[in-house]
Amino acid sequence: MPLDPVALTADLVRCPSVTPEEGGALVLLERILTEAGFDCRRVDRNGVPNLFARWGRKGANRTFGFNGHTDVVPVGDAAAWTRDPFGGEIADGWLWGRGATDMKSGVAAFVAAAVDFVQETPPDGAVILTITGDEEGDSVDGTTALLDWMATEGEAMTVCLVGEPTCPERLGEMMKIGRRGSMTAFFTARGVQGHSAYPQRAKNPVSAMARLIDRLSSHELDKGTEHFDPSTLAVTTIDTGNPATNVIPALCRATVNIRFNDRHSGASLIRWLEQEAAEVAAETGVEIGLSAKISGESFLTPPGELSELVARAVEAETGLRPEPSTSGGTSDARFVRAHCPVVEFGLVGKTMHQVDERVEVAQIEPLKAIYKRILKDYFT
Ligand SMILES: [Zn+2]
Repeated sequence: MPLDPVALTADLVRCPSVTPEEGGALVLLERILTEAGFDCRRVDRNGVPNLFARWGRKGANRTFGFNGHTDVVPVGDAAAWTRDPFGGEIADGWLWGRGATDMKSGVAAFVAAAVDFVQETPPDGAVILTITGDEEGDSVDGTTALLDWMATEGEAMTVCLVGEPTCPERLGEMMKIGRRGSMTAFFTARGVQGHSAYPQRAKNPVSAMARLIDRLSSHELDKGTEHFDPSTLAVTTIDTGNPATNVIPALCRATVNIRFNDRHSGASLIRWLEQEAAEVAAETGVEIGLSAKISGESFLTPPGELSELVARAVEAETGLRPEPSTSGGTSDARFVRAHCPVVEFGLVGKTMHQVDERVEVAQIEPLKAIYKRILKDYFT
């Protein structure tokens, strides 16, 4: 009996697995996968639940990996939902609930594809599933914990597919072969407080910050690269909190967020920001400090064997050739890429994190069929 990915999605939605709660989701998957002959191991770390499952021999020459998460973001305004966010109800062609698109349907589709595939045509190699309960949270003890554990156990994936939603409108139109990096810089300008009628006796940190922010936001970081859009810088706040009109304050803070392509690294951008801050400080006499947080470096799995394997399977099942894109926010692919080549493909993610999150039921079987075809093509 083939495993029904729609019923499995509904069962998973009924598990209230808001990060970091396991909610029964990984327990359910572990039971299904164990029955299907997978070696399962819970790799929990610091209270975060994670599941590792392998069918086939450890250390096999060819190992295809899937990665996904069963944790979900909070419901938000529960009263605003049309249907129970943890009901897994099917109505009007949609399956409703928190995590329906992000990404319990994706996990259900690759679990069902993997189970059917190894039972119908046992491959010469291994299939590994890494499923985390911490993607929507800090992502510190999730996929990273699984990969750390795999390294100590000598477990490895040759290639990996992350099943996050990737398609903007129609199933099949987009896959992700990389992601931009993300960093946030926090500036603090310290001047000398004074009377606004005598600005020459003060050092104004607000005008110094304005000059710095203007320099940063009018600078073109690059024009884009072969696989990436141009890098962007967004000013997210400038604060003085000064209620007085006749006082020049002593302090001004500002924050900028940068999404960057493969022309830059977190370190190279910090060097640039430090240099700009130092120049403005020299011009104005205002001290400008900087601290930065790098959320992720940019990465790219150059188009090649893996992206071609995925594209061919998607095209065979949907008739659409998926565009290889690097757009969007970050995902756990940023951790997997240090382990092996990684590509992301999944369904349409329009209602992710929204009230009334739901997935079109008609997309789930085709997604399973795509994943199954990828496995079949990979091992033949
Ligand atoms: Zn997700």
